[in-house]
Amino acid sequence: MPGGARQRRRLDVGAELDAARQGSHRAVARLVSVVADGGPQLREVARALADGTPATAWVLGLTGPPGVGKSTTVSALVTALRAQGSRVGVLAVDPSSPFSGGALLGDRVRMGAHALDDGVYVRSMASRGHLGGLAATTPQAVRVLEAAGVDVVVVETVGVGQSEVEVAGLADTTVVLLAPGMGDGVQAAKAGILEVADVLAVNKADRDGADATVRELRQSIALGADGRAPGDWRPSVVRTVAARGEVDELLEALQQHREWSTAHGRADVVRRRRAAVEVRALALADLGRRFGELGSGGLLDDVAGQVAGGTLDPFGAADRLVAAVEG
Ligand code: GDP
Repeated sequence: MPGGARQRRRLDVGAELDAARQGSHRAVARLVSVVADGGPQLREVARALADGTPATAWVLGLTGPPGVGKSTTVSALVTALRAQGSRVGVLAVDPSSPFSGGALLGDRVRMGAHALDDGVYVRSMASRGHLGGLAATTPQAVRVLEAAGVDVVVVETVGVGQSEVEVAGLADTTVVLLAPGMGDGVQAAKAGILEVADVLAVNKADRDGADATVRELRQSIALGADGRAPGDWRPSVVRTVAARGEVDELLEALQQHREWSTAHGRADVVRRRRAAVEVRALALADLGRRFGELGSGGLLDDVAGQVAGGTLDPFGAADRLVAAVEG
């Protein structure tokens, strides 16, 4: 069933948010759905979430090629974070899918291990988010989880395409998962992965070739392939065997990056950048919609005719469109 076709009943947003703050999983699910589906109550939810409480959750972005072990790693991380006493949210994000709700994403079965745990919230989101796409919907969903008292939000994206890397790159700490013989250092550098990763985890370290992959990645970073300035955080490279729950090195690296970010004022910079990307995406989506309204049969047709006829220059035509949108 296409998610957009679903008819939702009107929510009492205040009551839902109160319930979410008390830890209600159903309320969190409903609020995330409004955000993910861009429902009619989206603005109301967004306003209610802006209650003067600054962002507190640590947002962890995790991406990597399909089959590398992302779902397995997220599940192992959730177990480890829970053991430390953190409340954890997982947002599984699929930029290539038009569907929300999660049934179509492959992580449901594995996350079932946490289904009975009150301190774990798992939701899935797709790209249909008309209003600004995932750059806008992901931070809103994070805010819902924060309201529910979540300390760590893991944003897991399905692959390493441009939009996945972009979404993962908006996190406070970004993890890129690779596996022996899949990516290799050179490939990773080419794909721009080293630039976005704060931590590179070579998963399936129980397999041959893991040491070589780790070495190659470290060499690429030492040669400056991560494109970072001196004094900046250099990506750390760790090994994991997620299938056996062995994610200690990864947890340690995540903690180090978090401490570094906080000590260097980077956590605030990243949060502001995430908000800037979000607001820009919303503003551009709104402008796009308004331009669309000027389209067929409207002012755009009118000025396009004049440009085609040679009576109006294209810059003058664009000015008229912009003026109409502003008016
Ligand atoms: P995703 O597509 O990136 O989410 O990958 P999955 O988490 O679904 O894992 C893909 C496959 O790799 C599954 O069969 C996992 O059991 C397996 N896998 C995950 N982690 C490891 C690991 O550390 N070692 C080995 N040998 N296999 C693993």
